[in-house]
Amino acid sequence: MKLYNSLTRTKDEFQTHVPGKVSMYTCGPTVYHFAHIGNLRSYIMEDVLEKYLAYSGYDVTRTMNITDVGHLTSDGDTGDDKMIKSAQREHKSVMEIARFYTDAFFSDCEKLNIKKPEYVVPATDCIADFINMVAKLLEEGYAYEAGGNVYFDTSKLENYYVFNKHDADDLEEGVREGVGVDSNKKTKTDFVLWFTKSKFEDQELKWDSPWGYGYPGWHIECSAISVKTLGEYLDIHCGGIDNAFPHHTNEIAQSEAYLGHSWCKHWFHVLHLNTANGKMSKSSGKALTLSLLEENGYDPLVYRFFCLQSHYRKNLVFSWEGLDNAVIAYNKLVAKIASLNPVGEADENDFNAVKAGFVSAMDNDLNTSLAITAVYDALKAKVSDATKIALIKDYEKVLSLGLINAVEKYRENLKKQAEAEAASVSDEDRPIVELVNKRTEAKKAKNFALADSIRDQLKDMGIVVEDTPQGPKWKRI
Ligand code: AMP
Ligand code: ZN
Repeated sequence: MKLYNSLTRTKDEFQTHVPGKVSMYTCGPTVYHFAHIGNLRSYIMEDVLEKYLAYSGYDVTRTMNITDVGHLTSDGDTGDDKMIKSAQREHKSVMEIARFYTDAFFSDCEKLNIKKPEYVVPATDCIADFINMVAKLLEEGYAYEAGGNVYFDTSKLENYYVFNKHDADDLEEGVREGVGVDSNKKTKTDFVLWFTKSKFEDQELKWDSPWGYGYPGWHIECSAISVKTLGEYLDIHCGGIDNAFPHHTNEIAQSEAYLGHSWCKHWFHVLHLNTANGKMSKSSGKALTLSLLEENGYDPLVYRFFCLQSHYRKNLVFSWEGLDNAVIAYNKLVAKIASLNPVGEADENDFNAVKAGFVSAMDNDLNTSLAITAVYDALKAKVSDATKIALIKDYEKVLSLGLINAVEKYRENLKKQAEAEAASVSDEDRPIVELVNKRTEAKKAKNFALADSIRDQLKDMGIVVEDTPQGPKWKRI
């Protein structure tokens, strides 16, 4: 499988440290607010990646952290603690906020068919691990204490800007937010590993440490949780593109300094979901949530379908019109699958020949948009309906669009509709409706001779039947 690697900036052949096994780390949500549908785009694409790796035969173990402490309103060391701000806004404790929004996040994930990782680790459960990591970084000379805080010393690294697209000016963002530059830092790019001299008097969550009562920086949590749950060598690390700098850059700096060797082979970044006015963000307060889509009558899985229609390495612009188009396409797909009439077993040769199209799309840098095309191709292929259904079920292991459930619901609705129609049929029309239904059954069973003879019988009664995508319609001549 070829997968774009932000470290090498090329599509690399995906490789793992241990053959057949993948250790995968995902930056989890900062649980101070509902996830917005942009965040969820990243988690959907990472879910597809995990499932495709499993589909390709890898044994995948995945960890996700929950950021419940330390993430400031800038991604660096400036601004307010997001969790405290939220607790103040909602008159709750930080831990109440964390629990509430963690549950809300996983409820969204469930609705989107996003699998829960094997390890889900709140940062506040791992304080001792962060302290150990910071202590070793100090011992090895990669960190220093200044003004009561502990900082990572980026000047000790040969190559800090691993993703190469950034420079020191990117850190100016915090300054623009009206917060002064931290004069304790030896180099502008240094970052906090442990805060004790907090500018937040009301910081609720603090712990004892060798450097005083305080709390961890945001970046250290992902390094420590990854090493703790997945070991010293990580195969793939995921996140939205905004995490590449400074968060992931700092994770690499800390982890490799701590471990004394290179750490993660592959970096997978999902580009942003934007609105017509720019990036969607939680802090702007204008972000759309999954609940809002539901309130407006959209099925969460249609949003998943909308995301899968485009490639993860392209920005995706959200619009209601775009989502409406996804609804139409999704419903058509469901109706198409519902019209299949699988009889007997799938043909293995046909199955493998058609499946190759899906695999080649996904093997080419997880091209989900071509994978969706492969679903249509399977439906158009000159193979039996049983093979088609087997193919759709197989692709669904990865795409998880809920197609099979949707087909069942669609059929139930059709049945209910037919029953309602039958109940409202007059005594005069009843024999006609019965014959029309008998003809439909005959067609389904591929008994075309019987179907034709019923059509003739109806014609003799002065009735014509027309087949439409919504089913047969009849009228008197
Ligand atoms: P956060 O909860 O802010 O820590 O972000 C959770 C995940 O969502 C991270 O992987 C971010 O990189 C990602 N993310 C943030 N904004 C967007 C966006 N507009 N589109 C896609 N992913 C995003
Ligand atoms: Zn992280």
